[in-house]
Amino acid sequence: MHRIVVLGAGYAGLAATVVLAARSRRRDDVSVTLVNATGRFTERLRLHQVAAGERLADLRLSDLLAGTGVTLEYGWVTALDPAARVVRLDDERDIGYDTLVYALGGVADTTGVPGADAHAYALDTGQHAELLAHRLARRGGTVAVCGSGLTGIEAAAEIAEQYPGTAVTLLGRTEPGADLRPAAGRYLRDALRRLGVRVRTGVEIRKVLPDAVALAGGEIVPADTVLWTGGVRGLPLAAAAGLAVDGADRIVTDAALRSVSHPEVYAIGDAAAIEQRYGLLHGSCQSGMPTGVHAARSILATLAGGEPPRFRFGYYHTTISLGRADAVVQFTRPDGAPRRLSLTGRLAVRYKETVSAAPWPTYRRMTRLPGTGSIWPRGGRFTR
Ligand SMILES: Cc1cc2nc3c(=O)[nH]c(=O)nc-3n(C[C@H](O)[C@H](O)[C@H](O)COP(=O)(O)OP(=O)(O)OC[C@H]3O[C@@H](n4cnc5c(N)ncnc54)[C@H](O)[C@@H]3O)c2cc1C
Repeated sequence: MHRIVVLGAGYAGLAATVVLAARSRRRDDVSVTLVNATGRFTERLRLHQVAAGERLADLRLSDLLAGTGVTLEYGWVTALDPAARVVRLDDERDIGYDTLVYALGGVADTTGVPGADAHAYALDTGQHAELLAHRLARRGGTVAVCGSGLTGIEAAAEIAEQYPGTAVTLLGRTEPGADLRPAAGRYLRDALRRLGVRVRTGVEIRKVLPDAVALAGGEIVPADTVLWTGGVRGLPLAAAAGLAVDGADRIVTDAALRSVSHPEVYAIGDAAAIEQRYGLLHGSCQSGMPTGVHAARSILATLAGGEPPRFRFGYYHTTISLGRADAVVQFTRPDGAPRRLSLTGRLAVRYKETVSAAPWPTYRRMTRLPGTGSIWPRGGRFTR
């Protein structure tokens, strides 16, 4: 029996699990186990909606995987022992594996700025987002969103819309929407203005205090609540186990998504540092799901005596919600550079919602039809 264990039921881990389950259903020499902190699929890309008081759909892993033969284990992974090929959970359970798929995602990178870890909220888990929602509903007041990337923009817009009594300031180095075509970027910044978000760019955050953010140069920005969205890094688990990681604790992979130090470990989604010809993949669902499908297919190909193929991926869009009634969709080249075409307003809202709602029904389909979900843009000449 070859034991395949998938860690993490996010976008990437679930994609790997359903493909492994569907393609190995008739085999009695392969077992698939999925380990996750909770019994629900957390739609991480909607956590800013949770912070703004929305409740997410109750998507249960046991419903999705009923009848697939996958063994579900709930618990927090606290350690890996690659030499013994064992995963340790918080209740002291040990789970053995022959092939491991590491898909534990990432957390907000609070390492560079003192006080960010202790005093700022982050959108790492459903519980974190709910804590922030409770705080905002109780206190209102001033909110500083640190980080003017996509998560910061979406969170600032959502909070300003859902809590009209709060004064939201978005702080960051770069202008929000700087990576979009000029017209789409202008639309995004106008939308933030309409929602009452105050944008401060070109700022360097030096420290997070219990009731303020300290900037380089000595300025103090008072804030009753601080949300930290300044980058994502992997969990410290992989480095602690001796796996090769990059500067942000993501597992460094070869072209087939195997750990360069431990080839029996596949690393996917936000937890992995995956190089394409145009650069390192940035964490997203559009790339995370294909990494999961690819890892699953590679594992099964390897068990059949083949060589795992090279992973190739090209982006096709950037979708940014601006509250519930507005959005921007920027279509992109495979390397992420913006194309001419973008959508704004209602049409963009509908597009964004369709894309955000797609993963769960896609997983359902993939459990029944193993072929679906294995199609994604490979990036053409940008990844050849
Ligand atoms: C507010 C917000 C908005 C976003 N919007 C977009 C967007 O519009 N489009 C887009 O493409 N991307 C978006 N992203 C990024 C996207 O959500 C991530 O890239 C994606 O979730 C990565 O998928 P993943 O499977 O690697 O990790 P995750 O989805 O984070 O899944 C990780 C899983 O591992 C589990 N886990 C973690 N640690 C442990 C542990 N120690 N033990 C057991 N289980 C554990 C978690 O419970 C979770 O189920 C957004 C992110 C945020 C925070």
